[in-house]
Formats: sequence, structure tokens, C-alpha cells
Amino acid sequence: MTDIIRMTAADLAAKLDSREVSSVEATEAYLDRIAQVDGDVHAFLHVDNDGALSVAASVDDRRGKGEDLHPLAGMPIAIKDIVATKGLPTTCGSKILSGWIPPYDATIISRIRAAGLPILGKTNMDEFAMGSSTEHSAYGPTRNPWDLDRIPGGSGGGSAAAVAAYEAPLAVGTDTGGSIRQPGSMTGTVGVKPTYGGVSRYGLVAMASSLDQAGPVTRTVLDAALLHELIGGHDPLDSTSLDAPVPAVVAAARKADVKGLKIGVVKELGGEGFQAGVSERFNEAVELLTRAGAEVVEVSCPSFDYALAAYYLVMPSEVSSNLAKFDAMRYGVRVGPDGVASPDAEQVMAASRDAGFGDEVKRRIILGTYALSSGYYDAYYGSAQKVRTLIARDFAAAFDKADVLVSPTSPTTAFPLGDKLDDPLAMYLQDVATIPANLAGVPGLSLPVGLAAEDGLPVGFQFLAPAKADDRLYNAAAALEALLEDKWGGALLGQAPILEGAR
Ligand code: GLN
Repeated sequence: MTDIIRMTAADLAAKLDSREVSSVEATEAYLDRIAQVDGDVHAFLHVDNDGALSVAASVDDRRGKGEDLHPLAGMPIAIKDIVATKGLPTTCGSKILSGWIPPYDATIISRIRAAGLPILGKTNMDEFAMGSSTEHSAYGPTRNPWDLDRIPGGSGGGSAAAVAAYEAPLAVGTDTGGSIRQPGSMTGTVGVKPTYGGVSRYGLVAMASSLDQAGPVTRTVLDAALLHELIGGHDPLDSTSLDAPVPAVVAAARKADVKGLKIGVVKELGGEGFQAGVSERFNEAVELLTRAGAEVVEVSCPSFDYALAAYYLVMPSEVSSNLAKFDAMRYGVRVGPDGVASPDAEQVMAASRDAGFGDEVKRRIILGTYALSSGYYDAYYGSAQKVRTLIARDFAAAFDKADVLVSPTSPTTAFPLGDKLDDPLAMYLQDVATIPANLAGVPGLSLPVGLAAEDGLPVGFQFLAPAKADDRLYNAAAALEALLEDKWGGALLGQAPILEGAR
């Protein structure tokens, strides 16, 4: 039998269902793998051996009794540490939340638990999801399983690295400007940001509420679809949740046919500034789609040139207000100012926020507070909101010409740890191609399409679709995945050194 941890989630689900593999066996296999490699990778901030095994045992028991179970029942899963999990630490990669144990579950966690998926643990991330490398975690960086001296992307580097290093078959991430898709691109995994409102935000610690969206991190397109259908759908506890059925993403992933599909290559999201090996793999994938019968056109979205600037006004503005609640009065770290015998509340708040937040978080709070201040509000926040409207219009016009849009997910492959830490703007540029989707609320998916010639590291290919048409992403991506399998002989992930079983 193939090694349990090497199976796709879809295959493992079938084996669990037929009782060829028990959930306890699968969960133990993944926990063993975590024990074996996570000292190097550091994908997890917290591993819940006992909790995961007890859920696994109870699912096995229910299956033994012939109960009707969810198709993913018994499948282990890893969760980004920004999602509230009752009884399990949730730190958001920040010191300010060290030791916090949420008293409630996020809606997606309630759904995951109700379906009987053992939660392996919580994954590392940039503090409060701010970053593109996971180096802004207060608990130390995650390393890329392809090369331990390189970043795994961010902010959800932990979820992506866990899936890439076979420490979990499925993971949940969140994407405010690219934090699911860019780590997917860096680690050779599939990452999906669903339509805004498609997956409940209840119980996700908010970064920028009008942009945040949770979604799947997996090794195949079908696996992502299976997880998407489980966590997606209306939630009365989230007022921005869409009151619409989850698009039929599993059926779309199984259909995988691009004949006659109109694919728009976005002129502004490629070319200059993109690494040669990234562009090469991207163009080759477009060529494969063309040969498979897709109709490829070039589309122009001129306002996308301003997306990054608009994002770095809208996002910090929302950050500054969302993070105001970490005031040391309600939860989290509380310290007093040095040398003050009886400090007042404001002094305690200031000292606690100073001690609890890292530099990148502080930078954004300051930027956001400034952008929202009276006198500057119209000039900065107001202008950014107008750009946001223009970006949505560009998308609408492009989707008149094409069913899906495509671009490289990120301009580069994974860079060395430390490379961009002193240069925030270079770090921000990682997300030039992913941010427009968040600003407009449309769904996006990153698919690994091979390795860059110059460094042998994974390259991600991004599909974008109109709001509520997430199924189009899965159909097109599954088709490209199948075409690439012919070309690369599948097992792209198997080529990474730490994944070879060399250890
Ligand atoms: N890298 C982007 C940022 O730093 C996006 C982060 C995210 O999607 N959470 O804001």
C-alpha cells in the first residue's frame, strides 16, 4: 500500500470509507511525520496529539457501527493559527495572544469538527497575517520544505509548508492579500481564496475585514474542492457571509475540461519585474491550455497598477481599528510600564501593545491610524476606496471578454530567509498579482505548474474568476493539473529534498 501520507486527500478518503485505512492509522502517520520533520520545517506552533487521536478513534468507532459519515470524516487537517479553536491555543503568531485559549470555535472549525476531521494542530504565520514570508511570526520562521534556507511564503507559510512536507493532507489558510495563494506558489501546493463571503469569517481573528477570506491549502485541485465544500456556505453569524449555495466546486474539479473556455492573460500582472523562470513556466502552461482547446486572449486591467498602493491604505486602516481591541484589558499579554509605581490604564495599554506587537504590526497600525485621521481621510483612505471601485470595474470588463483570468501567482520563487526583512516594499511586492482579487472580492486559485529553470523551485499559476463563480477556477485548474501531470509525470512535490524521504 502507498504510504498513507503520500496519498491525496481524495484517495485517503476513499480508503477511510472502505475501512482499508482507519482514521487512527492515518492520524498517527501524520503525527509521526510531524515529529520527524517539524523540528526542521517549523510549520506548527501547536500540535494536538491527544485531541486528534481521540477524534480519530471516535470516527473509527462510528464508522464501525455503520453510521452515515461525511466524505472527509477521519481525515486529519491542520489549521492556521488565526482561526479560533475552542480549547486549543490561538496566537495569530503574536506574543500579545500567547497563552490565549479561545472559549469558542470559528464556524469553519464547528463544521470541521461536526464532519469528524481530527485537528492535528495550529500552523505558523506572520504576526496577525501581515507578511509574505512567515518571518514576522513572533515564534520564529517556518522553513520551505524545498530548501530549508528559504521562506515558505506568507502569511500562511505554516499551512503551506505542512501540506508540502506531508505533515498534513489538508490545511486551512486565510488570504487578505495573497496569504493562501503566494505560499501555495512558494511551496508547490494548491491554495484557494474563495469569493469574499463564500466562507464564514466568524471566529477568524480579523486583519482587514473587507478583504479577509479563509480557504483550502492542499496538494491537488480536487482535494481543495472537497475542503472548500465542507467549510463554505452561508453563516448567519457572519453578516458578510453570502446567502447563496456553495458553487459546485467538487463537480467542477472532476469535470476538468477547457475546450472552448475563454482565458484572459492579464497584461498588467506579468512581464517586467517577474523572474524569468516564473514567466517561462507561466507561458508554457498557457500554451498547454491553448493546445487543449482553450481560447486565450490578452486583457488589460489598467487600474491594477494601483492595486498595491490602494491595498496598503485600505488594509492598514482596517488593521488599525481591528487591532485596537488588543488593549491588555480584555485578553492577551498585560505588562506595566517600566518604573511607574501605579500606572493608569492608558499607560498599561501602551506598554502592553509595545511589548506584545512586533515591528511590522506596529508599522501598519501607525500607517492606518494616520490614513484615517481627519484631514487625511479623504486624501488617503477615500482615494484608495475609489481605486478599489476602478479595480472592480476592470475585473467586470475583463470578465466580459474571458471566463477566467490568469497570471503568475507571485513574481518570484521562494527567496532566502532574511532577504527582504529589511525592505518592506520588496516584501509587499510579492503580492502584486494576488491583491486585486481581494480588493474586488473575486475568487483566486494558485496551482503549481513546475519548477523554475534557474533555481529548481516551484512556480505558481493563478486563476481568477468572477464572484460566486469559484467552480470555474476548479474546472480550469483541474484541467491544467491533468495536462501538467502528463508533462511532469505527476509527483511535482515528490522532487523536493526534504520530501524524498532522504531523512
Ligand atoms: N502579504 C500581504 C500582507 O502582508 C498579504 C497578507 C495576507 O493575505 N494576510 O498584507
